[in-house]
Amino acid sequence: MTECLLNCPLCKSGNILNHLLIKDHAVSNKEFTLFRCGDCELLFTNPRPKEEEIGPYYDFREYYSHGNQVQNFTQWLYKKIRKSSIRRKLELINGLTKSRSLLDYGCGTGEFLQEAKRQRWIVRGIEPSEKARTQAIKKLPSGVVETLSEVPELEAYDVVTLFHVLEHIHRLRDTINKITSHLKSNGYLVIAVPNPESPDAKHYGKDWAGYDVPRHLYHFSRQSISIFQEQFELELVRVEPLVYDSYYVSLLSEGYKNQGSGLISRYFKAFIQGYRSNQKARRLGNYSSNIFIFKKK
Ligand SMILES: [Zn+2]
Repeated sequence: MTECLLNCPLCKSGNILNHLLIKDHAVSNKEFTLFRCGDCELLFTNPRPKEEEIGPYYDFREYYSHGNQVQNFTQWLYKKIRKSSIRRKLELINGLTKSRSLLDYGCGTGEFLQEAKRQRWIVRGIEPSEKARTQAIKKLPSGVVETLSEVPELEAYDVVTLFHVLEHIHRLRDTINKITSHLKSNGYLVIAVPNPESPDAKHYGKDWAGYDVPRHLYHFSRQSISIFQEQFELELVRVEPLVYDSYYVSLLSEGYKNQGSGLISRYFKAFIQGYRSNQKARRLGNYSSNIFIFKKK
């Protein structure tokens, strides 16, 4: 069963139109429609699998069991990039505030929180996926819970992070309102999302891996981000690029675009495209993925 949205999930406008048909290359091979909001420019999957029924679309076992060299190398690359991006994220939050309490919403298997704890942050993680949460709890025995409702109502944090998580949240407005209620005043909300206006998104079009339907429910343009800050009473204070994402996204996109292409040609093209995307983005700031840093008003 799917659910059909009649209004924009970000700004609630009824001015929404059918925009683009995208295939789920990673798991189901089904096609999904992206709608576009005429008011805030948000792109969103519509109709979309309901929250309680989207689980199977995250089931990559089938996908990985066909594991060949390309996928194994891609996973290796993904881990390398993750390690360097953990370092980057820590540098970023360390520079925001002297007072160090952190809530990571969608903490996955907990590597970022583990490193933050090592750097003297008081940490809490939220992770809905049982498999990932079990691993995160091994690293941080009392710090990780399944949902925000398990966090005491008055518990407030200096920094809340959502790294490549916002685009997966079904109850977008409700969740962001709850998250900001756990943010101290003048606290920071740090959000990383793929950029549908990036040069690599434009280059690959419907084969752009950042669309990742139906797991990615939303795609935020700069206009959508500006509406986002208004809707949730936040102030956008800084935007930082995630420069490795263009390479990783280009590599996946090359595979989607030319299913039969060879390993070397795929890596070569992805490297060129990833590099070009970052070069172009230098001028306009439209990197493949950006980190938006908001301050609570
Ligand atoms: Zn909208």
